[in-house]
Amino acid sequence: MALLVTAHWAIYRKPINNAAIRTHTTYYETSFNKLQTPSLMSFSALGLCSTLLRTVTAWGYTQPSPIQKEAIPAILSGRDVIAIAQTGTGKTASFALPVLQRLANQPRPPANTIRALILTPTRELAAQVARSIDTYSQNMNIRCTAVFGGVRIEPQKLALENGVEILIATPGRLVDLYEQGVINFDHLEILVLDEADRMLDFGFTDQLNHIQSLLPEQRQTLLFSATFTQDIKTLAISMLNTPHTIELATAHDHIDRITQTLHPVDKARKHALLIHLINRNDWSQILVFTRTKRAADCLKKELINAGIVADSIHANRTQQARMLALEGFRNGSVKVLIGTDLAARGIDIEQLPCVINVDLPYVPEDYIHRIGRTGRASHSGLAISLYSDDESKQLKAIERLIGRPFKPKIVTGFAPKPTPPVVKVKEEEDDLYGNFEADDTPKRRRKSNARKKRR
Ligand code: AMP
Repeated sequence: MALLVTAHWAIYRKPINNAAIRTHTTYYETSFNKLQTPSLMSFSALGLCSTLLRTVTAWGYTQPSPIQKEAIPAILSGRDVIAIAQTGTGKTASFALPVLQRLANQPRPPANTIRALILTPTRELAAQVARSIDTYSQNMNIRCTAVFGGVRIEPQKLALENGVEILIATPGRLVDLYEQGVINFDHLEILVLDEADRMLDFGFTDQLNHIQSLLPEQRQTLLFSATFTQDIKTLAISMLNTPHTIELATAHDHIDRITQTLHPVDKARKHALLIHLINRNDWSQILVFTRTKRAADCLKKELINAGIVADSIHANRTQQARMLALEGFRNGSVKVLIGTDLAARGIDIEQLPCVINVDLPYVPEDYIHRIGRTGRASHSGLAISLYSDDESKQLKAIERLIGRPFKPKIVTGFAPKPTPPVVKVKEEEDDLYGNFEADDTPKRRRKSNARKKRR
């Protein structure tokens, strides 16, 4: 078995040509259940202290995931790290555990200072990371707080008053707090950029540069991103110092555990099909994606009218409403949560059985992010996409990205109407520029009229 596993990794190792990034290991993401083999490294071999070892055991983690296996020792050694990994790979623990260990047993940070800063693109992700760190630091004397926009700033100022070891922040609110003079970075040792590609997508580049200019140069920087684009390489070069690079090249193994289905349907009947699917299947919870906030709200109304408990999460809702919706979904009182791509980033619910795309995203990578919300941590998952024929471009891009075409399945009673064939007009002066109503007249009469005219 050990031999087989070694061979598996050997096949997938690939070097990357980037002068600024010296060491590089490429792994393909693997599922957590493949990691249960005793021949693989356990958490204790990674150099974690006994407190954290007890925590991960209590949390039911038997083996580190590939990203954890690679990132934890590198971070513990104090190196900068760039890790290309999707959500669902165990990436949060891969930086949270070693950061906690590095900060343990150190003097308290003075008032209004922090030791580690974790930047995230969205409020939901900030709250999610804070929850994970709270869990992992249960038996440690470490304070962690999250700050983000959309909620009152006063309690956040208060939380910073005595200094905190770990601050999780979205860039906008962090700059706001800095400008109000309630935070300084003199004691900062570690900076983590989580989902850095999303931060760039959301236009945070200038804010990131500004924040970087405020931080001490002597620090450890960890950058996590789902994709390894040129922009990410540029950011890494400007922010990291000869980092150790880990690339989980694709999410295919995780994605392979998800059954992906495409139901062609007329655009106007998508909501009816969604209601039909929800009523016909016994999914405990469903995460539904729409491209726009308006579509999310409109769908929510329709589901509620159909007697389905639904809520929505998107940027136009208040932070309070978004949190309530998430909490309801987490505790099971909300059956269907409808989200847009941006807002749904921070959703991490174990054993989420089903994700449904009411429409296909414009950015194909968002498809991977969306369906990656199911099939997490070794569970299988189901991802359904409702497809109308105006989405053929998006479909092709997704198929290219996942490397295979879908086999569309029509749901009985929801077959799309055939699109009318394009009528080819003969390029005769009469037909092109004449009376358009002439098209409706039977062919034979039209011909004789044309003949009469010529005469
Ligand atoms: P993340 O990639 O950080 O979003 O984590 C995805 C899920 O995997 C979370 O629900 C974690 O609790 C879980 N997880 C993280 N590390 C492990 C592990 N080593 N074994 C099993 N589950 C894990």
